[in-house]
Amino acid sequence: MNNMSLTKKIIIALILGVIVGIGLNFTSSDLFVIIDKYALNPVGQLFLNLIMMIVVPIVFVSIVLGTAGIGDPGKLGKIGAQTIAFYLVTTAIALMLGLGIGTLLEPGKAGVFETNKADFEEQSAPPIMETIVNIIPENPFEAMTTGNMLQIIAFAIFIGVALAVLGEKTKGIYQLFEQANDILIYIVNAVMKTAPYGAFALVASAIGDAGLDALGSMAMYMFAVILTLILHGAITYSLAIWGIGKAKPSKFFKEFFPAMSVGFSTSSSSAALPVSMKIAQEKLGIKKSISSFVQPLGATINMDGTAIMQAVATVFISQVYAIPLGLNDMLMVVLTATLASIGTAGVPSVGLIMLAMVLNQIGLPVEGVALIVGVDRLLDMLRTSLNITGDAACAYVISENEKRKESKLAKSS
Ligand code: ASP
Repeated sequence: MNNMSLTKKIIIALILGVIVGIGLNFTSSDLFVIIDKYALNPVGQLFLNLIMMIVVPIVFVSIVLGTAGIGDPGKLGKIGAQTIAFYLVTTAIALMLGLGIGTLLEPGKAGVFETNKADFEEQSAPPIMETIVNIIPENPFEAMTTGNMLQIIAFAIFIGVALAVLGEKTKGIYQLFEQANDILIYIVNAVMKTAPYGAFALVASAIGDAGLDALGSMAMYMFAVILTLILHGAITYSLAIWGIGKAKPSKFFKEFFPAMSVGFSTSSSSAALPVSMKIAQEKLGIKKSISSFVQPLGATINMDGTAIMQAVATVFISQVYAIPLGLNDMLMVVLTATLASIGTAGVPSVGLIMLAMVLNQIGLPVEGVALIVGVDRLLDMLRTSLNITGDAACAYVISENEKRKESKLAKSS
């Protein structure tokens, strides 16, 4: 058992978690409450806290080093533009796929839904302009204590650029950041050893709590979301890795699996970040400077899995309420959902808040969200895995291209 690879241990833990979670659905709910309260929840929370503890320091330190590593502000701008273009295009594709499959499979006509009982309290997300203005923090320390990722990223980029420009003069601080990075990687390695236990507890707790009887008429909706998630991962990312990055998609998915499983069990792109960056750099050979810049940014602004859920859910709700969606409405979904993902952090269930915004924008009843809440916990796990896979795929593609450019330059000089 001790010699077994971490990936294998995590796979076994996930399978056991699913089995125990399903089993718990058949026990009395009192028994589940006790097992969850005294065993699953504390173990799961402990694991979650262990990784959340290192997210802010890792994002800060690695973006400083990543930016300083890229060095030239012009090159940084180029990589930034490529990253944002990749994120926007893949998110738009994800949304179109979701709208298409939702329209084709008609999940909203696959059962009887009690719309009169649906009730959902809308929470507001900040307007897009406010998000953009607030990217520059008034107080970077407050950004760190509240975990405001976009602000932390912005502040770290300033420090990284300064370190690159000042060079020799600030070598001491640069080395300090490098050493801090070593310490954080050491902690990630230690924390990952507990991942199988944490993943088991989180998955068993989530599935045990999900109430499988809620699935019934929602089966078609879930199938449509899951099918789109798989298609987007297998086709869109594979094509990008193979076509643009000229690399092997099979290697990417095989090596990246442990990170996907952490995304799956924690339902949080932010929580999965330390592991996904570690795998990207150590197993996929993604350049450190690129991984540390592209992936934390993606954890906040790029959520293709969440976009897919929003697209399918919008179609589903329009079918249940018999309010047909026109082409204009669909374009509006693509636009609003893409923008909505920029300002919302990668934490559990945030997709539902974004969905409410989208429904509002195209005039569908926001109470419709209540229909999918029951099965959303399970889908959140799956879509978070895809969210972080998209971030890593982008980093992989950009890094492979950069490496090729560098070796061409080296050859010609
Ligand atoms: N849980 C997702 C994430 O962290 C966001 C969501 O879809 O709710 O990436």
